[in-house]
Amino acid sequence: MFEIKKHYGILGIARSGVAAAQKIRELGGEVFLSDIQEAARVAGSAELMGHYECEFGGHTARLLECDELIVSPGIPLSIPIVREALKKGIKLISEIEFAYQIKAADSKIIAVTGSNGKSTTASLIHHILSRIGKASILAGNIGDAFSGYPIHKPGIEYIVLEISSFQLDLIETFKPDVSVLLNITPDHLNRYESFGHYVASKFRILENQTEQDFAILNLDDDCIRKQLSQVKAMKSFFTETSRKEQANAWMEDVFITFDDDTQLSIYDLSIKGPHNHTNAMAAILAADALIQDRPRIIKATTGFEPLSHRLEYVSTINGVAFYNDSKATNTDSVKYALQSFDKPIRIIMGGSDKGEDFSVLTESLSANAVKVYICGETADKMRQAWLGKVPLVCLPTLKDCVRQAFEESLSGDNIVLSPACASYDQFRNFEHRGESFKAMVKELRLEYEKN
Ligand code: ADP
Repeated sequence: MFEIKKHYGILGIARSGVAAAQKIRELGGEVFLSDIQEAARVAGSAELMGHYECEFGGHTARLLECDELIVSPGIPLSIPIVREALKKGIKLISEIEFAYQIKAADSKIIAVTGSNGKSTTASLIHHILSRIGKASILAGNIGDAFSGYPIHKPGIEYIVLEISSFQLDLIETFKPDVSVLLNITPDHLNRYESFGHYVASKFRILENQTEQDFAILNLDDDCIRKQLSQVKAMKSFFTETSRKEQANAWMEDVFITFDDDTQLSIYDLSIKGPHNHTNAMAAILAADALIQDRPRIIKATTGFEPLSHRLEYVSTINGVAFYNDSKATNTDSVKYALQSFDKPIRIIMGGSDKGEDFSVLTESLSANAVKVYICGETADKMRQAWLGKVPLVCLPTLKDCVRQAFEESLSGDNIVLSPACASYDQFRNFEHRGESFKAMVKELRLEYEKN
């Protein structure tokens, strides 16, 4: 547990590590920061060096003098310094675990994980709680880090956390009052030894919960259903299908229906597509677990807008609509993008490889896409998976894809950037890719209007 006299090390100087360092200092503790990148490449390094003992450009034995290391979620646990620390018996924790250890006892935690839908669902829960007048913060992988808030002081009623598997890999005591496990589909296979390891990591969100806590679970997900015996918390289930045994939320025509007969029309939600219906079910069940007033919670979903880069509408040029789904960095999110339109889709895909098998998309692509426009590092792998099965073209850049898709479109078509890959081969991150796409569409629009 957190002790002021422990000497903490921060492994990886990024957003959550810096927030943890600031909090340790604020609480009166000692901290040492270490990063593999040269100082020039680390944001705010000069200021950090003025306040803390730091090292850049590599991890030295100095780190091994610490009692406990807070490891950035971006750092694979296979690197030598991590192995050396473990050999020396130094405890490794994630920033989520650290923040949990210092948080005030009166704040309740609602934690959301899953392969897809975390940001949308966590944001919707926070929106609901804020709208009904609760003091709520949204933290973790979205917005500021968990320890970036004054969580050690009383007064924050609800802490809504978006949590990745990497943060869960290094928890010890972290125990949400409500856990939401949205889905588990292949992702980050470049970081995990196997899909089984990734599933086990996601399940850790439920590990420390007791019979007094709540777990909101996807009844359609085989991985989740197979391991229900591990769940000690009170379970609520949602399904994207019609009513199923055990389900507490399901679809009835255009209504999301709950077991106490309350309903929400999908037309009253501004997030679209079957995946977003399940995200809404999960968010409502999670908020209701603590608030217990479903009609009020359902009403509080109004005004929630889709987040940028998640099936975000961009513009329409000559009857052709453009959507930015840059955050679709795995095949399951693309499968749902393909199900979210009732008009023809021209889909732009490709990027840096996360180790997925693209052939799982062949069926959805041939059923829903007019043509696939591919660019980036995964172009060859995608071509091999779909050649002869799906109309496709490989092009040098994203801009070429946008232009050719538009030239070949008919009025009524949708052009959707939904890459199924990370962005690091051509962009800084998924936001940079999405913003670049939007700028290309804007440029196309201006050219079109001039002619
Ligand atoms: P995450 O934070 O888990 O990455 P987001 O809400 O940011 O999730 O959405 C990421 C991508 O996944 C977007 O392309 C979005 O349209 C898609 N998505 C959102 N919710 C789901 C879901 N429940 N199942 C599958 N894909 C989803």
